[in-house]
Amino acid sequence: MTYQGVIDRYCHHIELPPNSARITLLEGNTPLIPMPHLGRQLGCDLYVKFEGLNPTGSFKDRGMTVAVSEAAGRKVSSVICASTGNTAASAAAPAARAGLRAIVLIPEGKVASGKLAGAIAYGAEVIQVQGSFDAALSLVLEITQKKPIALVNSINPFRLEGQKTAAFEICDEFGKAPDWLCLPVGNAGNITSYWLGFRQYDRGNPRLLGVQAEGAAPLVLGHPVDSPETIATAIRIGKPARGEQALEAVRESRGKIISVSDREILEAQKILAAEGVWVEPASSAGLAGLVAQIQGGSSEYRNCRVVVVCTGHGMKDPSVITDRFVAKVIPAEYEALRSLLI
Ligand SMILES: *Cc1c(COP(=O)(O)O)cnc(C)c1O
Repeated sequence: MTYQGVIDRYCHHIELPPNSARITLLEGNTPLIPMPHLGRQLGCDLYVKFEGLNPTGSFKDRGMTVAVSEAAGRKVSSVICASTGNTAASAAAPAARAGLRAIVLIPEGKVASGKLAGAIAYGAEVIQVQGSFDAALSLVLEITQKKPIALVNSINPFRLEGQKTAAFEICDEFGKAPDWLCLPVGNAGNITSYWLGFRQYDRGNPRLLGVQAEGAAPLVLGHPVDSPETIATAIRIGKPARGEQALEAVRESRGKIISVSDREILEAQKILAAEGVWVEPASSAGLAGLVAQIQGGSSEYRNCRVVVVCTGHGMKDPSVITDRFVAKVIPAEYEALRSLLI
């Protein structure tokens, strides 16, 4: 099989203007990893959709190939986004290939090092904003209303067109939709896209378990959060752009939106890594939510086929791991090694 990006693979299911460019890094086609050991413990048929294996390390590459292809097709010269980090890298990489200027606004000091490095490496103009992600997004909205710069945050409908291909892939692999889909919710573009994708593809619908971090849970609380705080920086968002649609999707699916603590998020990150899947903290929120539900006594997941979406790779946020780690140091002598190990 030759590799295809999501636009070529699902061209009949994606709305894209005919004059669009085709800017791709062969994103998508990510593995649906069986988790038999953990599934047995939790009492369900469990899989991880590992979206961290996209070209820049997060699921956002799916939407961005479509948004940047559309922007390049109408001959804009610049794209811009606000980002907690992954959007920046996902925009910058295809923009570089398309020869577009990429401008990214990030909350000052709140972006994980692997993400910042990616955006810089791909040649984006990185601007730190003295404020939250939500403040950065407001600035981006204002400038794109006034200047001919293409907005590539997930308010851009072409982002959703690309992101919904993850739902198509899951249905193609199983032949039908799973019973449950568990995933983190930040700006709520991803959960909205999955729901659009499952509905459109017509192979059944999963129930959605959307999971926010306790300190950034506007959709659970029912109101915006002024200063969102969580170790899961990718979902540190207080005013989700697609919040209403996300709630609607969850309602329609007979699903739930819940929140989990940072401690539960880090514990879920550890559980996944113990099975060989290292994800960034936000990405383990889906599993953290599932575990919290089951440990809280819910039997709704029992014997169900459950897909946990792991949205970004662990290498995006290495300091979450290394800051809590103290290396053992020994002299370069055999005896020192032997006495340490045995
Ligand atoms: C962007 C992002 C999310 C949140 O997705 P939304 O579409 O904003 O809800 C979750 N995890 C990771 C790793 C992300 O980059």
